[in-house]
Amino acid sequence: MAAIQRRKFDTLIIGAGGGGLRAALKLSDADASVAVVSKVFPTRSHTVAAQGGMNAALGNVLPDNWHWHMFDTIKGSDYLGDQDAIEYMCRAAPKAVYELEHFGVPFSRLDNGNIYQRPFGGQSQNFGGDQAARTCAAADRTGHAILHSLYQQNIRAKTHFFDEYFSVDLLKDDEGHVLGALVFNIQDGKPIIIEAKTTLLATGGAGQLYKTTTNALINTGDGLGMALRAGIPLQDMEFFQFHPTGIAGRGMLITEGARGEGGYLVNGEGERMMERYAPKAKDLASRDVVSRAIATEIREGRGCGVNKDHVMLKLDHLGEEVIQMRLPGIRQTCMTFLGIDPAEAPIPVFPTAHYTMGGIPTNRNGQVVMPVKDTPEEAIEGLYAAGECACVSVHGANRLGGNSLLDILVFGRAAANHIIGYLAENRYHRSMDESCVEKAMQRFERWGKNSNKTGEPVSVLRDELKKVMEEHCGVFRNEEVLKEGVQKIEQLAERMKEASITDHSDIFNTARVEALELENLMACGLATMHSAYARTESRGAHSRIDYPERDDINWMRHTLYSFENGLDYKPVRTKPVSVDSFPPRPRVY
Ligand SMILES: Cc1cc2nc3c(=O)[nH]c(=O)nc-3n(C[C@H](O)[C@H](O)[C@H](O)COP(=O)(O)OP(=O)(O)OC[C@H]3O[C@@H](n4cnc5c(N)ncnc54)[C@H](O)[C@@H]3O)c2cc1C
Repeated sequence: MAAIQRRKFDTLIIGAGGGGLRAALKLSDADASVAVVSKVFPTRSHTVAAQGGMNAALGNVLPDNWHWHMFDTIKGSDYLGDQDAIEYMCRAAPKAVYELEHFGVPFSRLDNGNIYQRPFGGQSQNFGGDQAARTCAAADRTGHAILHSLYQQNIRAKTHFFDEYFSVDLLKDDEGHVLGALVFNIQDGKPIIIEAKTTLLATGGAGQLYKTTTNALINTGDGLGMALRAGIPLQDMEFFQFHPTGIAGRGMLITEGARGEGGYLVNGEGERMMERYAPKAKDLASRDVVSRAIATEIREGRGCGVNKDHVMLKLDHLGEEVIQMRLPGIRQTCMTFLGIDPAEAPIPVFPTAHYTMGGIPTNRNGQVVMPVKDTPEEAIEGLYAAGECACVSVHGANRLGGNSLLDILVFGRAAANHIIGYLAENRYHRSMDESCVEKAMQRFERWGKNSNKTGEPVSVLRDELKKVMEEHCGVFRNEEVLKEGVQKIEQLAERMKEASITDHSDIFNTARVEALELENLMACGLATMHSAYARTESRGAHSRIDYPERDDINWMRHTLYSFENGLDYKPVRTKPVSVDSFPPRPRVY
């Protein structure tokens, strides 16, 4: 084997979305040498697509308090979120917003100059009282504004970027230390070993598991696949969020901010349907509640259109001026993809795969943690995860809109803070055994020029995987459908072992990237389907027709799925640090 190029850094960050860039900035500003690897140019990371905004109890529009935010997040999580992590996030939120403001994020403003905040789903004042307005927005392009500001700040801080490099696998020695990763340059296919004292996974979600999704093609759960192959279990993968308002049949997102600005849903009979499901919060109930309501209306024959297969989101009553000022991107999307101006006509919508609540288990410091039988879980030294690929868990069984941008920034920063402490005490790189490089290289070469060329095409298997996930692990689930889903996905994973790619050109290596991504998606699909099949209750986004109730006695616990041990469970952390717990209560909106 020709010698592989090597580079050494204090910290390797895999992923240049909001989570990765927030951590990188903190580390570079602390004079650590930081490498950020991203398979796309950093400002094309999926954070750029975030529309509606980021939650923080600033109280600029209506009275607010971080403790109310904490209550809403725990209730939204259907009591599966870890309360210490949620407390930490909600307390840190205002500071995270002001930091962004100082980095140059052009937030929308109120007449008095304060940051504009809009109401979002599941937000309340005073622990379940009137609607709150907690989501800080830069029109409907908040993620774009945040990502570009963070990238510019990282350029100033001299973060080292490996743009359009693909991370294949973590490099882990026999003692379980993660020593960096094997990556390759997508343009010329050349592998590089990046050695690092600390590694942070910030690779985003796995929305490409589903056929109809708001997620970009790059959201293939690569970090989750890397973790599973490194023997790290994935947590709570059965909880996949379906956003109520994807454009019907196409999937592009219409932000919850559209309902926050006063938009509402109507069924085929012209009724304002959410009054039936959430008498108080109506269209601003939690996402799982609204998605189920839409699916139920359609199943019971009250859908819109010739096939009665969607409902309508009405915005035209808001007036052109409000739509143009607060929702210009949404207006543009509708005009481009539907030929509809929402200032004049309603938008056809249907629940669409949107957000991966589960992920790599971490603690509040972003350290990746492993379950240890009969003892508290242990942090893996030097390995961190933040952002959508991580499961802290602040979203539990259902994420509130506006809490993900907050999560990526708060825990990206927290991970960097912990890394700074770790680097102060661990000044040298550990020596790297060649065997861990060989293992990662085998996977890389599996899709190289000398690989099998007669197996099934990767594209066929990818389409089948998405179909299986959509049909067997959607908004509503039951035993029979999930059991069949498990069988189908196991078969697909077997077929993947013999699959092949035929395009072996050195330019851009797109076929190889697609194959590596599909292996990661397949791993996520297995974790999701197995975890969903086993959980015999309904909680948050996991809705079992055969077990319609939440079962706190048997299921107030997190799922862990690993290749080695299958399914395991661990308790929810119900004790916050400085305030009283919020015990589970019936969840009504
Ligand atoms: C359409 C849409 C709108 C949204 N709107 C909101 C909103 O208004 N408010 C809110 O709170 N949340 C919103 N969300 C959710 C939120 O945007 C995401 O959860 C969040 O931005 C994820 O950030 P991240 O840093 O974890 O990952 P991402 O921004 O997805 O970045 C992942 C990074 O990892 C890199 N990467 C992945 N795999 C590899 C690999 N193998 N090798 C190298 N690099 C790799 C990618 O190149 C990328 O740089 C929205 C989501 C969508 C889809």
